Amino acid sequence: MNQTIPGLDSQDITLLQNARNYHYARDMILQIRKNECSFCQLDPNKNKVIFDLELWHTWTCPPQFMAKSIEKHFVIAPKRHITHIKDMTGEDWADLAGIANIITEEQDIDGGALLMRFGNPAKNAQSMRHLHCNIYVPDGTGEVKLTIAKDPAKIAKKKLVVACWIKMFQLEEAREFVTGEHSFDDKKLAENCLSNEEYALVEPYFV
Ligand SMILES: [Zn+2]
Repeated sequence: MNQTIPGLDSQDITLLQNARNYHYARDMILQIRKNECSFCQLDPNKNKVIFDLELWHTWTCPPQFMAKSIEKHFVIAPKRHITHIKDMTGEDWADLAGIANIITEEQDIDGGALLMRFGNPAKNAQSMRHLHCNIYVPDGTGEVKLTIAKDPAKIAKKKLVVACWIKMFQLEEAREFVTGEHSFDDKKLAENCLSNEEYALVEPYFV
């Protein structure tokens, strides 16, 4: 099945494998094509910035993206678009250290994990190609594992789902439905362009 789509490179396709549904994948395709990055242009309605330094800032993870058994989750990212740790300057490290110190102090965090995701998304399981760190604080109700690579069998299966999403996107595009709004129906698109076997693959991801 087709794993390519104009305007996206192979690492962008890997990002799509981390999308949780067609809506999300579709937004990612549109953003990448427009050279937009939602960490460069933070949506203040979705992301509440709680601390700001000159080069980096931090915001609380939106509730819908919080993992189970996590009490606090903050995202810390540079304001400019960089993807790799080798793009970080001494000033970047100083800002990051400053923010990490202040957040743990202000939020009264007595323990947790600080994880940085950078570079090739196949090697960090990120869904944004914008270098960032996460601070996680578990709530004590269950085991918490932080993923940096997914099970290859699951990735192989998700690749097939992405190929179906690409077909759905291309149908939507062909119908000139791409308006940037969620004014479409993933189920209808799937019904109109997928085989029964493909439909069964995407069905669990319907919104
Ligand atoms: Zn960015």
